[in-house]
Amino acid sequence: MKELTGRIVNIQKYSVHDGPGIRDLVFMKGCPLKCIWCSNPETQSPSFQLAYNSKRCIGVESCGYCVKECAQEVFTINGKNNIEMDRSKCINCLKCVNICCSKALHVFGTDMTVDEVFKKTQNQTDTWRSNGGVTISGGEPLLQADFVTALLKKYKTVGVHTAIETTGYAPWERLEQVARWCNLIFYDIKILNKQKHNNYTGVDNSVILQNIKKLTEKFPDIEIIVRTPVIPNINNQEKDIINIVKFLDGLDNLNDYELLPYHGYGSSKYLQLGMTYKLEGIGSLEKEPIYELNQRIRKMLNLRKKV
Ligand code: SF4
Ligand code: SF4
Repeated sequence: MKELTGRIVNIQKYSVHDGPGIRDLVFMKGCPLKCIWCSNPETQSPSFQLAYNSKRCIGVESCGYCVKECAQEVFTINGKNNIEMDRSKCINCLKCVNICCSKALHVFGTDMTVDEVFKKTQNQTDTWRSNGGVTISGGEPLLQADFVTALLKKYKTVGVHTAIETTGYAPWERLEQVARWCNLIFYDIKILNKQKHNNYTGVDNSVILQNIKKLTEKFPDIEIIVRTPVIPNINNQEKDIINIVKFLDGLDNLNDYELLPYHGYGSSKYLQLGMTYKLEGIGSLEKEPIYELNQRIRKMLNLRKKV
């Protein structure tokens, strides 16, 4: 029988965010949401994705192998020693990736077994011992629930602290299955208004709101932190946040609520993937007022101490 694999975009080591201590972050590929502010667009599609970083390309005069290799004629020379791509012709065979010596052409996504991911992070037992752990992020971990469950179990058996970051957009059974193996869950509630949520993420938020209620009721022993990314002109008005706070006020067993100020760090990856970044050029938000609002909200909510 074929061994279970998960499709991973990246494993980031020595992170001091996304959970206590020093952590390994495992980014899963594939997400059912398409948030227009997404800073990890390479995690959205569940498929392998060809990316082109023009800064690394050494030019067609010294190389040009991709133009010769691609039978689909995706690449053309633009007259300035650079290549241009017509992605509509690409069949995703990824042959060009193997011949690109400068790694200008590369692929997002690799399939790994549980043991392979575990081994890649295992050399960090010292950091795990210093109250760190592993956080499974994405993309959406619940899209690959069987793999993520197996991976979390593996960490649990050696006493490693486990966390996931989820949109909560999945059948309850899948969230329940994964939650059993978590010490900590970061759960996003981005926008409360249904229509607005649909407009900016591409999905309805009913399941997300139902799942957080069930999660806080059925798993009182898990640390649960709800987070809202605060995006200029989308949900940065105080009333947008207060709507979410009113909803959270009805939940028991919530450990914290975090507001995450917008940053545009992922915009260069949109270019590499041939995607359009719709928020190009919008300014960043002042962090201080958001942190102050967050502190006021924490006092309003019935948050419990760390379990
Ligand atoms: S194979 Fe790579 S380095 Fe060579 S021209 Fe194509 S993209 Fe540039
Ligand atoms: S992945 Fe295949 S079809 Fe697409 S550009 Fe590369 S060689 Fe051409």
